[in-house]
Amino acid sequence: MEGTASVVGSGPNGLAAAVVLARAGLRVTVWEVAETPGGATRSARSLAPDAVTDLGSAVHPFGIASPLFSRLPLHRYGLEWLHPKVPMAHPLDGRPAALLERSLGETCRGLGRDGRAWAAVHRSVVRTWDHIVPGVLGPLLRIPEHPVAMAAFGARGVWPAAALATAAFRDEPARALFAGSAAHGVLPLTRPLTASFGILFGAAGHATGWPVARGGSQAIADALVADLNEHDGIVLTGVQVSDLAQVCPADVVLLDLTPRQVLALTEQALPRSYARALARWRYGSATYKIDYLLDGPVPWADERVQGAGTVHVGGTLGQLSAAEADVYAGRHPDRPFVLVAQQGAADPSRAPTGKQVLWAYAHTPHGSPVPIGHRIDAQIERFAPGFRDRVTARLETTPADLERMNANLVGGDIGGGAMDGLQQVFRPVRKAVPYATGVPGMFLCSSSTPPGGGVHGMCGFHAARAALKDLARRRHTTPQPSGPAAQPTTHPPVDRIHQ
Ligand SMILES: Cc1cc2nc3c(=O)[nH]c(=O)nc-3n(C[C@H](O)[C@H](O)[C@H](O)COP(=O)(O)OP(=O)(O)OC[C@H]3O[C@@H](n4cnc5c(N)ncnc54)[C@H](O)[C@@H]3O)c2cc1C
Repeated sequence: MEGTASVVGSGPNGLAAAVVLARAGLRVTVWEVAETPGGATRSARSLAPDAVTDLGSAVHPFGIASPLFSRLPLHRYGLEWLHPKVPMAHPLDGRPAALLERSLGETCRGLGRDGRAWAAVHRSVVRTWDHIVPGVLGPLLRIPEHPVAMAAFGARGVWPAAALATAAFRDEPARALFAGSAAHGVLPLTRPLTASFGILFGAAGHATGWPVARGGSQAIADALVADLNEHDGIVLTGVQVSDLAQVCPADVVLLDLTPRQVLALTEQALPRSYARALARWRYGSATYKIDYLLDGPVPWADERVQGAGTVHVGGTLGQLSAAEADVYAGRHPDRPFVLVAQQGAADPSRAPTGKQVLWAYAHTPHGSPVPIGHRIDAQIERFAPGFRDRVTARLETTPADLERMNANLVGGDIGGGAMDGLQQVFRPVRKAVPYATGVPGMFLCSSSTPPGGGVHGMCGFHAARAALKDLARRRHTTPQPSGPAAQPTTHPPVDRIHQ
């Protein structure tokens, strides 16, 4: 299809949308305010010149599972998923850690008398993974391609995670292992539907693993940019889009932005009711991140944890539940739930021999200025005595720092908006085509649209498909294409083109 497209923002969703549009034949320009494309998948050498730090995402269960990423030849452009020996470990006080192994059977054996229940909760989703993934990585309001598999998953997923863990498992290791995965929803574990996160993350570990990208998460963005370039699309970096006229004329405009930014950019052009609905959008709890450089592996009390790519640090189901409930209520738990990534367990290229980078974050109330770095340190030290002595450099990133780094991370919310209540289904508004803004040719494609946060590019994929359909329809009904704004604009300086 002939035509032009502008994409504002080069996060994984903006780039995914750009690739889909470019492959459909449109001439695509992506506009990015940062100097490097990638949004919250960027990496940098911020701790030391010879150590790679992931500035945002680190571990990619839904990157490797993404139907879009797996259809693109991203490996040709250097993207390689690397798996740690163990996808995820959950240390416990005074007893062996619980391990999510690649093999469902091995995980069950490790969980003793809860093994059968672990299999009962996860097995059908693992077996039907290829049918489940397109269902959960798309708009929920549609008839699923595989209704039986989705119904089986949905029947368990609607439960609150804490209730399901308590009912299904008898011992702490299985309960805590499940709760850690469910806490990726950034919600109190007593909320309906939080079990869906626990089941999906657990099943992902068994089905396709929780890998990291060789050399840093930046490799994901770089591969998408390379594919875009291959199809004559370009990314312009260092350009803040503050007026839609900057990116027009174009037959379609896709915004890799969250509702607040969309309103700031183009409120006047939007239908009133749509703008009002966007203004009601709720952002979620924040993230407080610390990157560490260590002079050796983390001295976990259970040495098997060293082989895990991800470590869920926070203790028992009860302790995790209390911590997440506190954060949701605006309090700062003394013992927060901490997500730790040990990328070096899969990818030795991240730091020189003998050293290790460690990536960790805890949830904290939205926009909170309260420093909680010492509580994160203490939680890791609790399960790895001597940890602090191994740290040679550390860098704290507060919620405000995150938003300064990337305007989509409003108040430190890394999911593009809370994933609870109606926002889990209707993102960002209640509409048959949730990506459409009501302005002909203008679509949203960020994680504020279905399926939500995470590096999978599927928000961008579905938005681009909706935009192409809309363009074809407009072409069919009106003789001359008219994009979201027909006014001419100046062309970008060539030195901004990122190849
Ligand atoms: C600390 C952290 C840890 C995370 N961990 C994981 C993880 O381990 N695994 C996982 O799957 N996901 C993780 N995520 C979530 C994941 O990174 C995001 O869900 C994903 O990046 C969202 O993609 P996006 O394209 O919607 O937006 P973003 O990646 O946020 O990209 C938006 C882009 O738009 C640009 N932009 C904004 N405004 C403008 C403007 N006016 N003009 C031009 N450009 C603009 C921004 O600079 C940015 O580059 C993490 C995120 C963070 C921040």
